[in-house]
Amino acid sequence: MIIIKQYVSIFEPMKKIVVLLIFLAPVLSAQNYTIGNWYDFKKGAISLTFDDGHPSHYNTAIPEMNTRGLVGTFYVNFLWNNSWAIEANDVGHEIANHTKSHDSLSYLSVGELHDEVTAFNQKLENDLGFPIRTFCYPYGNGGESDSVMFYIQDTVAQTHLAARSIAKATDDEHYKYDFALSERDYYQIRTVHMRDSMRSYHEDFRKVISTGGYMTYMFHTIGTPGGWDNMEVDHFTDVLDDLLLIKDTVWIATFRDAICYHRERKTANLTTVYAPFENGNNWVLNLTDSLRDDWFNHPLSIKLEKPTEVVTILSAKQGGIELEYTIVNDSIVFNAIPDNGHIIFDILNCEIPIVDLTVLDETIICTPDSVRLEVNYDSAYSYSWFKDSVKLEADSNVFFAKDSGNYFSEVKLNGCPINTASVGVSISGVCGVPNANFESDVTRQFKDEVITFTSSSTNLQGTETYYWDFGEGSSIEPGYYGPGPMEVSYSTPGEKDVKLTVTGSVSFTDTIKNKIVEIDDFNSCGIYKEDFNGPDFKFWHWCTCKYGYNYTMEFVNKALRLNLTDSIYGEWDNFKLFFYEDSVMKPFDFSDDLYKPVLRVRAKASDTCRASFSLLDTNWVSTAGMKMNQIGYIDLTTKYQEFELDFSNLFFYEWENKVVDSTAVWGIS
Ligand SMILES: [Zn+2]
Repeated sequence: MIIIKQYVSIFEPMKKIVVLLIFLAPVLSAQNYTIGNWYDFKKGAISLTFDDGHPSHYNTAIPEMNTRGLVGTFYVNFLWNNSWAIEANDVGHEIANHTKSHDSLSYLSVGELHDEVTAFNQKLENDLGFPIRTFCYPYGNGGESDSVMFYIQDTVAQTHLAARSIAKATDDEHYKYDFALSERDYYQIRTVHMRDSMRSYHEDFRKVISTGGYMTYMFHTIGTPGGWDNMEVDHFTDVLDDLLLIKDTVWIATFRDAICYHRERKTANLTTVYAPFENGNNWVLNLTDSLRDDWFNHPLSIKLEKPTEVVTILSAKQGGIELEYTIVNDSIVFNAIPDNGHIIFDILNCEIPIVDLTVLDETIICTPDSVRLEVNYDSAYSYSWFKDSVKLEADSNVFFAKDSGNYFSEVKLNGCPINTASVGVSISGVCGVPNANFESDVTRQFKDEVITFTSSSTNLQGTETYYWDFGEGSSIEPGYYGPGPMEVSYSTPGEKDVKLTVTGSVSFTDTIKNKIVEIDDFNSCGIYKEDFNGPDFKFWHWCTCKYGYNYTMEFVNKALRLNLTDSIYGEWDNFKLFFYEDSVMKPFDFSDDLYKPVLRVRAKASDTCRASFSLLDTNWVSTAGMKMNQIGYIDLTTKYQEFELDFSNLFFYEWENKVVDSTAVWGIS
């Protein structure tokens, strides 16, 4: 059984002709959307802030928070060691500016204020490699709600999107959602002082949740007796564990993220660019705010009412990037970043059925068999079947394919189609009648060497018999042997008629396949072969020997060397060399520059023995009287005379890219 996964086919939408007679394009507000007060529609938000970069922050607080998946904001002064801050930022904590020297800012000159706030922000960013976005006033000095401090806050605002003071949250006004009514208020954020003597944080949780608002908690040392505002470790972990209990309701965020979200939401607007189906099968929206995009790019959580005509959403993207979304009570819930590109929903006005195509049986069949194709049944679905894109007369969820071709079903629910994957069906023949066939590893072989024959018959049922006849001189007698592979050698040369008879079950029908293989004889001229782990390369020569029949050939340093071994009266006519690769003869084309064979002849002048060569190439280097482009003669006067053909370049060219076994053996057969 084969299960083929469904895919969704998006059909061309009905083209709408929209005549627009708009002189001033109005910005259309997207109907019926809400932006969550806090990220992921949490009811309130809390930020844990840690002042002064005390070692207990990175030795104790951060590890305890990491194990709980909580993040905090760490206000640092001049950093002697950057590594903990970089690691903390990597796992989601915020590193923020607490001035270089921790001086009271209202006592500083304008230049010193710039050094402590603005230049130090830049130094932290340069040293750490990530943005520093929020600030905290040393001793709270400068963060008061007092106009004489406004120049300090204005300086802070140049490089930070918010700042925390040490002014205590004392009444509900400081917790509720509208904790900041003006932009300046974001630079005077109040806090709760956390220390062992301050154990009322549960009351703060309650206020944040009941007002849907926000609060920051300020920590100094953790587990450092005598430390400033110290909190013992077990008290600190109590706070963390209690935060875990409310974190599905309250967003535990860095100061930067919480304020960034709060400020974005205040000015954010979701507008319609194209209403559903106004411009094809999509719905295009734009989320904007009035803030600088390089600072304010936290995603806002949006709940958007889904119009009834939008039945199916195929995908959502913002600025080309996939957006995750969920459908909750006919609303689309998703997170998007303001001013980060159009939000595009890919939509349909119908419902896509859920369909899987199941294919029972093999898809290669013999007649009169068929393949059962089935898609899941639902009484609300309507079914069509297609073969090679031509609609078939079939409207059930099951179809029996009897002919070759590509089949697929089209399933509709409320007019919204899905195509199931196509299935190819092919016919192998009539059931019970095999198609005999076989392959051999080579079609030409040398005498006494193995050729392997293997049945490649088709349309089989598994009960067939195989009768092989390998022809005259074969090492295996004719008989029933099964489908192979069969290893056969021949004791005689010539063309061999190899025959395979396959008998099937229908009236014991035979089908027969013949193929000719050619077996070569080398006479006694010798064959040179090798056993490389790659293509099988072979050389041999053919000659008509009049005299001087006894000689040897060998490869020496990649050169073919011919030696007369007895008679000094040899004469060879029509001496030829052949080069084979996997039994395919390759012509010796000496005009190919890459081959560059070199003939070296070592001979002494004589008139008693000679061999003739047909040389065609100017690259031949002739010695001892050989001429280029001529019929050449080599005179051999003693049994020790020899010539060499140097094939180094040929070998290099042919075998450079092949796996060559350096231990390959050349020999004489
Ligand atoms: Zn401080």
